[in-house]
Amino acid sequence: MSSVVPTRTTDPSKVHPSPPLTPPSTLKNIKMTKEEEPADMNIPDNYVAWTLKNQKPLPPVSWNNWWKELNYLSLSILTITPSIALWGAFHVKLRWETAIWSVFYYFVTGLGITAGYHRLWAHRSYNASKTLKYMLATAGAGAVEGSIKWWSRGHRAHHRYTDTELDPYNAHMGFWWSHIGWMIVKPRRKPGVADVSDLSRDEVVRWQHRWYLHLIIGMGFLLPMAVAGLGWGDWAGGFFFAGAARLCFVHHSTFCVNSLAHWLGETPFDDKHTPRDHVITALVTVGEGYHNFHHQFPMDYRNAIKWYQYDPTKWFIWTMSQFGLASHLKVFPDNEVRKGQLAMQLKRLRETQEGLSFAPEGNELPVISWESFREQSAKRSLVVIGGFIHDVSAFMDEHPGGRHLVAKMVGKDATTAFFGGVYDHSNAAHNWLSMMRVGALHGGTQHGLDDKSVPPSQRLRIARYNEIGSGNASSTAWSDSEGLLG
Ligand SMILES: [Zn+2]
Ligand SMILES: [Zn+2]
Repeated sequence: MSSVVPTRTTDPSKVHPSPPLTPPSTLKNIKMTKEEEPADMNIPDNYVAWTLKNQKPLPPVSWNNWWKELNYLSLSILTITPSIALWGAFHVKLRWETAIWSVFYYFVTGLGITAGYHRLWAHRSYNASKTLKYMLATAGAGAVEGSIKWWSRGHRAHHRYTDTELDPYNAHMGFWWSHIGWMIVKPRRKPGVADVSDLSRDEVVRWQHRWYLHLIIGMGFLLPMAVAGLGWGDWAGGFFFAGAARLCFVHHSTFCVNSLAHWLGETPFDDKHTPRDHVITALVTVGEGYHNFHHQFPMDYRNAIKWYQYDPTKWFIWTMSQFGLASHLKVFPDNEVRKGQLAMQLKRLRETQEGLSFAPEGNELPVISWESFREQSAKRSLVVIGGFIHDVSAFMDEHPGGRHLVAKMVGKDATTAFFGGVYDHSNAAHNWLSMMRVGALHGGTQHGLDDKSVPPSQRLRIARYNEIGSGNASSTAWSDSEGLLG
């Protein structure tokens, strides 16, 4: 970088006034309680590397210690619930009213997690009215996945440290670890720091935290039982199907966002990390299956951006906004979304390009004079087209128009004949011809004949930024002569 102080030559009256910078001390002046202070306020710049180096992980789980390393509360919930559901499946008759109610209640509690815990609280992707917040916090409790605050804290760490040891559901630890292992076995490391002070200030989050045990019993089992019991006299079905079996499905539906969504599908927006897009994941997770998009644009209220993709959570949030219960639905600028898509498309095209052979350029070939060309064409079948010398010996019998038309041009310039004089050859023919290049004719081609010297398949190429040349180098980059930096 230059050490010369840039001089301003622009008339100061024409320079756009820039807003004054916020003094860095402002944040410190706000009185914050311990609870309100962002957890990541004072972390070092090299936090991730520092933590991985200095914070000792728990010892690896082995045959000698595994029973001490289990999280028995999660283990109980995650084994007893499916056991109850299985017992019910074999001993209790499933009535159709209960079946419909169970599926409906699966979506109610599922949306509590996806539209509430995930998109509202963990990502702040829209604003919800107090009524909607209470509804989502209550419905979400029925999914029995921990309180909003605990859940969002882990999820924010997952986004911030994706695929690292500080990601609580690190997909590099394997499918089953990210699905359920991280809850059953005590994690070897604490999740990386993630701030949830905004949630500590949210009265609905605090209310749910306070009443969490009551809420999970009420919403997890009592309500689904009571609806089926009081509605059509099926108390047992309400307990086993709308309660236990439904809970089991909601659990694994959410877990799939951490496992399946990091394992199955495509990476249309970025392939730096494991998140992927797949319709199957979307179907089993109430629309959270477009996870590659979600990790790139986490504050977008959508997961699926195309109208036909399955994202009932997005439809729900949009519908709530139509009723005035949700507002400020965040959408990333389409320009940025499409840039991500383009980058990935170009990357794939580049791979295709690298798998193909292209004709040598003029500077990669020997330059041959007209006399030498004439001389050598007496020994082998050489033809000049578009300033290049081609060896057509092996091709003559393959020529769709017949051998004689090629043979009569040996030792001659067939440019005019090739480009329409005798036959207006296809782009494919031009591409193939270029593969027979053996030399460049001295003097080259006349200007304006690029379409005859550059084969169609080589007119548009995918190039990396460092192959394009002086792209980023600009001698005026540091001068700021227009005063644009204020
Ligand atoms: Zn993820
Ligand atoms: Zn997320």
